[in-house]
Amino acid sequence: MDHFLYQNGILHAEDVPLPEIAASVGTPFYVYSTATLTRHFDLFAEALDGLPHLICFAMKSNSNQAVIKHMASLGAGMDVVSGGEYLRAKAAGVPGDRIVFSGVGKTEAEMRLALDGGIRQFNVESEPEMARLSRVASEMGKSAPITIRVNPDVDAKTHAKISTGRSEDKFGIPIARAREVYALAAALSGLQVIGIDVHIGSQLTDLEPFEIAYNKVAELTHQLRADGHTISRLDLGGGLGIPYQRSNTAPPLPIEYGEVIKRTVGDLGCEIEIEPGRLISGNAGLLVGSTIYVKHGEGRDFLILDAAMNDLIRPAMYGAWHDIVPVVEPAPGAEQTPYDIVGPVCESGDTFAKQRSLPALAEGDLVAFRSAGAYGAVMSSEYNSRPLIPEVLVKGDQFAVIRARPTFDDMINRDTLPEWV
Ligand SMILES: *Cc1c(COP(=O)(O)O)cnc(C)c1O
Repeated sequence: MDHFLYQNGILHAEDVPLPEIAASVGTPFYVYSTATLTRHFDLFAEALDGLPHLICFAMKSNSNQAVIKHMASLGAGMDVVSGGEYLRAKAAGVPGDRIVFSGVGKTEAEMRLALDGGIRQFNVESEPEMARLSRVASEMGKSAPITIRVNPDVDAKTHAKISTGRSEDKFGIPIARAREVYALAAALSGLQVIGIDVHIGSQLTDLEPFEIAYNKVAELTHQLRADGHTISRLDLGGGLGIPYQRSNTAPPLPIEYGEVIKRTVGDLGCEIEIEPGRLISGNAGLLVGSTIYVKHGEGRDFLILDAAMNDLIRPAMYGAWHDIVPVVEPAPGAEQTPYDIVGPVCESGDTFAKQRSLPALAEGDLVAFRSAGAYGAVMSSEYNSRPLIPEVLVKGDQFAVIRARPTFDDMINRDTLPEWV
């Protein structure tokens, strides 16, 4: 559920008509709904009610300062995957003891940054990382709290590029070697082992892979405790999927996901962490673009928008589907026309949808891409020298620009000239 509905025939973000935002900031732009972010956080909080837990928002899905500050105000922690995300979380006022650091390639500089500024835990992914973190922490006179990310060898049945829990994926250590690796970690003086981490992929639309993975984590918890380790925290990762195509998908609800957690690891006396990104931010955002041309091609019509693959790369990168709707509500029973919906970038990959049925649209008409709040703005670029597009946050009948569109000069002046050119 989200807060982007037609009111009096015009698509709104909460109580703000989208054409009003378009007139103010120009198109294309991203717009996020505060109420939707809150609602999604609350769904997870409800799902984990009764268990000691921390919901760590996966910042890589949407790391705008205003968004993460709002999430933190609800009580969320943050899951960060780089030094830059760590600093963004700190800049938004998130205390170090609410930040978990994930990722397969943490550098020494990133480790120092987090140890210096405070960290809840590092989710360590390999033996060389363990060795380096122990050395860095010792040099700083600290002890780094860690979980070790295990790879449970579960097929999450999601897109290959976002599946992370199969043995051929680069993430974590094989669960079969976990006891050996925990013994090594326990012997390193700069580390304090506190728990287990697992994250099997993103956009999961089935609970079964979670259930299998979490059962393996429960079994491992018993084994590691028997080996003498303190396992007081389980980080269960993110990955719950969202309905990108509303007409035919209904992924499991957070409450059902919570039941899986309670059933599999709920009685271990551990503090539970989860790291949802997409489910919180995805349906809390739209990308709004305007029609530049309607081009009649050979046997097909192209809707050429001012939004492109550099603004939203998911269709080009993952073949992802986004529902695309006109901002002016079509009359009931209005005739539909199939369009190929494309951007202006000079690549055929800059195609958002093929033969998508929409009511007839004309130059200047606004369209909205649903479910664009996660992995949208954060993955955007200035390819084709198209400046990054603005992000807008709505709350009730107010809206504010939370990242301004750079000017062409801003963009160009980032380059510098060596004297010999
Ligand atoms: C990407 C990622 C997440 C968030 O995944 P979503 O599908 O957005 O919920 C959580 N944890 C880790 C370690 C990740 O890499």
